[in-house]
Formats: sequence, C-alpha cells, structure tokens
Amino acid sequence: MRWAVKLPDHQLQYVISVNRLSLLKVSWTVILHVDMDAFYASVEERDRPELVGKPVIVGGSREGRGVVSAANYVARQYGVHSALPMVTALRYCPRAIVLPVRMEHYAAISRQIREIFHRYTPLVEPLSLDEAFLDVRGSETLFGSAAEIGHRIQSDIWNETRLVASIGVAPNKFLAKIASDLEKPNGFVEVTANGIQQFLNPLPVKRIWGVGKRAEEMLAKIGVTTIEQLCKTPLASLRQCFGDSTANHLHELAHGRDSRSVVPDREARSISNETTFPIDVTDVDVLRSCLLGLTEQVSRRLRRHQLYGRTVHLKVRYSDFRTLSRAHSLPNPSHSTSEIWDAVSEHLLPRVDLHAQPVRLVGVGLSSLGTTRERQKTLFDDHSERDSEIDSATDAIREKFGGGAIQRGSTFSSKRKPDDRGHEM
Ligand SMILES: [Mg+2]
Repeated sequence: MRWAVKLPDHQLQYVISVNRLSLLKVSWTVILHVDMDAFYASVEERDRPELVGKPVIVGGSREGRGVVSAANYVARQYGVHSALPMVTALRYCPRAIVLPVRMEHYAAISRQIREIFHRYTPLVEPLSLDEAFLDVRGSETLFGSAAEIGHRIQSDIWNETRLVASIGVAPNKFLAKIASDLEKPNGFVEVTANGIQQFLNPLPVKRIWGVGKRAEEMLAKIGVTTIEQLCKTPLASLRQCFGDSTANHLHELAHGRDSRSVVPDREARSISNETTFPIDVTDVDVLRSCLLGLTEQVSRRLRRHQLYGRTVHLKVRYSDFRTLSRAHSLPNPSHSTSEIWDAVSEHLLPRVDLHAQPVRLVGVGLSSLGTTRERQKTLFDDHSERDSEIDSATDAIREKFGGGAIQRGSTFSSKRKPDDRGHEM
C-alpha cells in the first residue's frame, strides 16, 4: 500500500484550530425525527392517483367495529383522525372512501425508507413503520450539517418513493419530535441549541410527552397552559400536584432537556455510500477508483461507530437505470478498508460487467452489522493487525485535517499481483 500525506507542515496549526471550532459547532444539533405524513393514506393516494383530492380513510370496514388507521388530509378537514371508530368517522364524512389496511405493502415501503436513513447513519431507531429517530453525530463531516442531512433525506424520500415526510432537527429526541409535527405536511423545522426556550415557550403543555388530558386539566387548574408558564412554575409546586417523578419529568422537558439516546434497531442495520456521476462513465479505471473511495468512506464510518459488517454489497446502475446488486459474505465481520476492498475487487467486481453500458451510479455497502468482531485468530492475523494500524493512523489524520489530507495510492496494489485477478483492467 502507498500513502501520500498532502498537507504541508506550516499549515498544521491553522487547520487544527479550524477543525476544533467546527467540532464544537457540530456537536449540538444532531437528532432527526422523520415522520411520514398520513403514511398509509398517502401510499394509497400515490398508488391510485384518482383518489387525490378526495377524502380517504384506511382502516376497518365500513360496517364492522373497526377504527381509522390513517386518514388523508382531505378527510382530516372533516375531523377524521386515526384511532377514531369508523362509524364515527363516516358520520363526520359520509362520502369518504374507505380502503383496507395493506400492512405488508406499507412495511415494504417502510423498509425502502429505512434504507435511505441508513445511507446517512447507522444510528436509526424506528418508532413505527412511518417514524424514526436518527442520530447523525459522526455523519456530518461526510454529508454536511444535521439540517443538510435532514433536507437530503426529505428529498431522497420524495424522489425515490413519491411520498412526503416531515422532519424535525434538534439537539435531542423530545425537541426533534415536536419539531417534525409543527409544520406538517412536508414540514422542516430546526431547533438550534440557543433557540430552545424560544421554540418551546408558546407551545401548549399537551405537546410534552406524557401530558394527556388529565395532566393538562391539572395544570390548567394551577394556571399553566403553555410551556413558558410551566417553566416558570417552581418545581416544588409541581411536585405537590404530580409527585416527584412526574414533576421532574415535566420540569426537565419544559426546559428542553432530554438525555435519552437513539437506540438503533440492530437487525436491520446497514451502512452504504454511493455516487451518482454527473455524466455516465465508461472508463473502468475511473469506476474502480471511485469504488475504492466509497469503500474507504464506508469502512471509516463503520470504525467511527465501532461497528463491524459481515456482508459486503456492490451496486452498479447503468445509464438505462438497470441496477445490479452483488453481495459477498466475509469470513469474519470487518471494518478494515483493506478487507472490504478485497471483497469488492476480488469477489464482487468480477461478477459485474462494467463494459456492458455506461455507468450512472456505483455504491458500496455493508450489512449484518454488529458491535463485536467475533472473529477467531487466523493465519492472516498479521495482515489484519497491520491493516488495522494503518486504518487507525489514517482515521486520525482525517479527523484532524479533513478528508482530503491523505489518500490511498491510486493503484492500491494488494497482496496479489494484477494478473491473478481475472478482471484486472
Ligand atoms: Mg406519520
């Protein structure tokens, strides 16, 4: 392997100080709450455009004792909302079109949306088919600020599913969830670290998690209807009304404090990076070098999150949008750039004809992720230990000086000679 450090010594001090500042800046607003708008009903409208503009209810049958699972925005104007008995919903809106729940279909679309999330972070906590928290700490150097990531996710979802999502970006889960709900549909609300109280103050207390009808009434009795009033209420008075634990909860949230972390759904996790070329590419060397860059990005993200992946994926989309996916299982879970690149170049690339057509997009991904290496000592451990030292060294340089500071030699000669690879081009 050849390495080239591009940074002249006299620039070190400057770069370090700039990076410290940007690290301080990015560590604040890192939680996204993504919520699909009227999900089941929107899927039905998308699949049957003749429904657009009409009141649509997804749920139990007209006759039975079913309830509303989802209502589109037209039906909502009549007061229809989810969990309402269907009989009542139809009294409010007799001409509503009632459709059965197609759960498997919604679940498949939900997986498609979840794949979009995983492009940007492995820390995805789904709350239901149509809602998830994302922690994008650690993804910002690759994809931009949390707000930029939020905008990218919103447009990826629209471009790839023709469905609309609302997104809240905030320093914690509580604020992100409120934010995503404020400007539905197709909403985008960012709460910055120094705008928290300004954001919360005017909102009614029922916006706070755990404040139901009863708590709302009890608070109203002591003259508290907004979060601002709740903030100004002494903790002792709240404790008298609600007991210590609920009072503490209300007090913390009213001040916008919430320390719960995003707990990823371990089974579905995958991590990938892809590139769409501005002009379709026919030069195989360009494609290989781009794939090597993507492999480095993906493996670096794994290392940063202390994750190991077992299955390596290669994706190639041709100019006619035909898309090939190839997967290869590693003998042991890995986050080593060198091991993952070996899988891409030795096992996956030979199974794709890069000459078939100009290429529009390439991608590299890892799935079957875990937090332990779960590997046994092998004959090649000398190599893997050396690889891991190289990875740590380059990660450290990149953390300090940015992504362009160091590059793998473009030929990336591996242990084998080029002739040994059937596909070397
Ligand atoms: Mg929703």
